[in-house]
Amino acid sequence: MSTTEKPGSQVISPRGSDTAAGGAPRATRLQAVRGMNDVLPDEAPLWQRVEDAARTVFAQYGYRNLRVPVVEATALFVRGIGDATDIVEKEMYTFADRLNGDSLTLRPEATAGIVRAAIEHSLTYERPQRVWTMGPMFRHERPQKGRYRQFHQLDAEALGFEGPDVDAEQIMMLARLWKALGLADVSLKINSIGDADDRLRHRALLIEHFERHRDVLDADAERRLHANPLRLLDSKHPPMQEAIRLAPRLIDRIGAPARAHFEGLTAALDAAGIAYEVDARLVRGLDYYNRPVFEWVTGALGAQGAIAGGGRYDGLAALLGGKPMPACGYACGIERLVLLLREQGATAHDAPLAYVAHAGDAAARMALAVAESLRDRGHAVVVHAGGGSLKSQMKRADASGAAVALIIGDDEVAAGTVTLKPLRVAAPQSAVAVADVAARAASYAA
Ligand code: AMP
Repeated sequence: MSTTEKPGSQVISPRGSDTAAGGAPRATRLQAVRGMNDVLPDEAPLWQRVEDAARTVFAQYGYRNLRVPVVEATALFVRGIGDATDIVEKEMYTFADRLNGDSLTLRPEATAGIVRAAIEHSLTYERPQRVWTMGPMFRHERPQKGRYRQFHQLDAEALGFEGPDVDAEQIMMLARLWKALGLADVSLKINSIGDADDRLRHRALLIEHFERHRDVLDADAERRLHANPLRLLDSKHPPMQEAIRLAPRLIDRIGAPARAHFEGLTAALDAAGIAYEVDARLVRGLDYYNRPVFEWVTGALGAQGAIAGGGRYDGLAALLGGKPMPACGYACGIERLVLLLREQGATAHDAPLAYVAHAGDAAARMALAVAESLRDRGHAVVVHAGGGSLKSQMKRADASGAAVALIIGDDEVAAGTVTLKPLRVAAPQSAVAVADVAARAASYAA
């Protein structure tokens, strides 16, 4: 991901132009929006590795793909995520539809949209559903390493399941994903934030506690103290940390049903050999959660240590106007996974098997035919385009990362052979009959 800070962007008119040194008008160069990154071709293979591994894991657990729009009605997120949260208060890209004035929002997360779709299409009418999605999310946060304004999530949701078996299943899926990617230095934190009446009872205790520490509260905390005191536990404001540490612990006061659920989850994790730490301060930044919540964290990414987070949201469907539907899910940030993989030295390439260099009209035609025959066998082949000497073509062949160069000139056309030059191992080049090129080239595959 090209996350290098861009030089201060200048304000330009939509048709912006300036004047070049010679006096001729030149259009102003446009740049990507701050916090919204390009993923360049050299960076994309690692993204694809993450996405492919995730698709495999989703399929292995019977999760099926569900795709929801990037734009939804603003009310969906306000109601779902909660209006006293950072996301809804400060971070949403919200705009009025110019044609009818509807308030629309670029999705800051996927769960609310998925639950809306499940209700709209009666997805769980006959049976519960396991679904996944992946794609861009949008939050107007202050960009920094691991935190962007357009970022990408992998997302899995189990709709219509009471748990705690599916809660454990989702944590195990992520453990399997880390293993598949060879990811080290990640650990699991879990907590239970109980049921709605547990939180209601706890509210008064929290308000009373933080009122006693009013001097350390920042403006957000002051505002949320009565609207949503649980949110205060999520604050990163340094002077509040001691008060947060001393706050009464909700998990010690949850009711019997939520406790039994949590114990079911920990028993399943113990049986699966998955280590975890119970963190009583883990509340997550969205209001729709209840009962178990979890986060996979790393120490290797500085302040943005949360790789994936999720939990149960049994009340969300009813909040969105549907029938009550128990459910749980998680989201995992692709940028942070890629950063972590890179930090751990992972690389990925998308080099072709062969690069075909050619000189002369007949050779150009033969190059295309040879390349097609290799592609028929499933190999990736780049045919040189744009002319140039064989020497310059060989430079391109090398830069492409191909395992072999296939060189075709008049001699090869006349003989019906191809000169095969291994590019990644020290081995002599040789003339190979066209029929044997695929097999010989494949023997040099990385
Ligand atoms: P959340 O929906 O806030 O629980 O986020 C779930 C995951 O998405 C986090 O653990 C991160 O990996 C990722 N994430 C959230 N916000 C951002 C962001 N602004 N930039 C990059 N990744 C993010």
